Amino acid sequence: MTSPDFMEKIVSLAKRRGFIFQSSEIYGGLNGAWDYGPLGCELKRNVKNAWWQSVVHYREDVVGLDASILMHPKTWEASGHTANFADMMVDCKNTKCSRRLRADQLNKGKCPFCGGSEFTDERAFNLMLQTNLGAMQDSSSVVYLRPETAQGIFVNFANVIDSTHRKLPFGIAQIGKSFRNEITPGNFTFRTREFEQMEIEYFCKPEEASDKYREWIQARFNWYIGLGMKKENLKLREHGQEELAHYAAGCTDVEYNFPFGWSELEGIANRGDYDLKQHAKFSGKDLQYQDPLTNEKFFPHVIEPSGGCDRATLAFLVDAYHEETVNDAVRVVMKFHPALSPVKVAVLPLLKKNEGIVRLARKIKSELQKDMVCVYDDTAAIGKLYRRQDEVGTNFCVTVDVQSLEDNQVTVRDRDTMRQERVSLEGLAGYLKERLR
Ligand code: ATP
Repeated sequence: MTSPDFMEKIVSLAKRRGFIFQSSEIYGGLNGAWDYGPLGCELKRNVKNAWWQSVVHYREDVVGLDASILMHPKTWEASGHTANFADMMVDCKNTKCSRRLRADQLNKGKCPFCGGSEFTDERAFNLMLQTNLGAMQDSSSVVYLRPETAQGIFVNFANVIDSTHRKLPFGIAQIGKSFRNEITPGNFTFRTREFEQMEIEYFCKPEEASDKYREWIQARFNWYIGLGMKKENLKLREHGQEELAHYAAGCTDVEYNFPFGWSELEGIANRGDYDLKQHAKFSGKDLQYQDPLTNEKFFPHVIEPSGGCDRATLAFLVDAYHEETVNDAVRVVMKFHPALSPVKVAVLPLLKKNEGIVRLARKIKSELQKDMVCVYDDTAAIGKLYRRQDEVGTNFCVTVDVQSLEDNQVTVRDRDTMRQERVSLEGLAGYLKERLR
């Protein structure tokens, strides 16, 4: 399968089965924006829950935060986004083309669309999306939709310390929407203008920063593996000195082998004390940490693991996709880790007109749904129902047949092995829970 074909299959399955739709499709779509359908929103929510569990609930040194998207405009002056968060752009001078392009994306000095070679001078194009707050539409009312969630964490650093009495090292984690007026959105949900980030700012003593940086790189890499991502599709890429911001001591990307090439899923940066110092300077507030033992005051250093929820979700979709030949037919199966699969169990009545079977199947579904996401489906013959569930990654199918009414047993079919087993109703929930762990 060539890579473009593979990507096309993912996009087509995502639409056909309700994972991801183009935004505002009935109006021709909006470039760089996507909607998550009934199964996609479950999948994405599972990705976020798995992240939150791993970095907040399973740790004692990280707390959560949910800051607002709109922030005081000074935030972005302090962070450097107002002045520096820009791509250098040129316009193609061929009047039939007139496209605005990133200067670093010209193809040997030529326009990649029309082949033209005359361009306007380079101009900085800020990627922040701007809007106005309140009744006035002048420069005094300008605010930005945040281009990253990180700054919401820095501006709340003192609030979190004061309210939780945290001692170094500790982190603050946040999941939320970010917006960037990307010039070249593309590769499906990989680069969009509205997206969700999963970010942590981990504060520590300057002398600990290097060790914590290494620990977080490993922890974040292992998170993807722990959720079933194939190791050969993941790698770490350490940034060269020339790629680093002037204040950063290091940055390493976790990259995934997408059908369009190795690309960044997440970056882990060792940012020094730049951010807190900047906010202290611009706000006039003391954002230093006071060591409770020595009373020494200093700006903590920061390790920032910053990932994209949509990129991770796309990578999990790509990684889960399998085609197998079964009885001369192609079986498409999404082999999601049980923590991620949108639906864990489908309850299927073998005969939808048999009242006893339907009653029992409904009862099983209403019992199981207390512990796991279940669906009930009787809209096709059993073979077709199995294929449908395979294609969306449902871990188990539970089939209720005539015999079930006599022996209180059902057939449980495993998505990956397709093996079928008779399981007693009494032990069914336990059987499934054990295998969904
Ligand atoms: P890229 O170089 O791919 O544009 P970046 O280095 O600018 O990414 P960061 O600013 O480090 O990205 O953002 C952290 C994470 O947020 C990225 O690793 C990515 O997962 C996600 N992210 C950033 N921009 C986008 C976008 N336009 N669409 C989807 N996810 C994004």
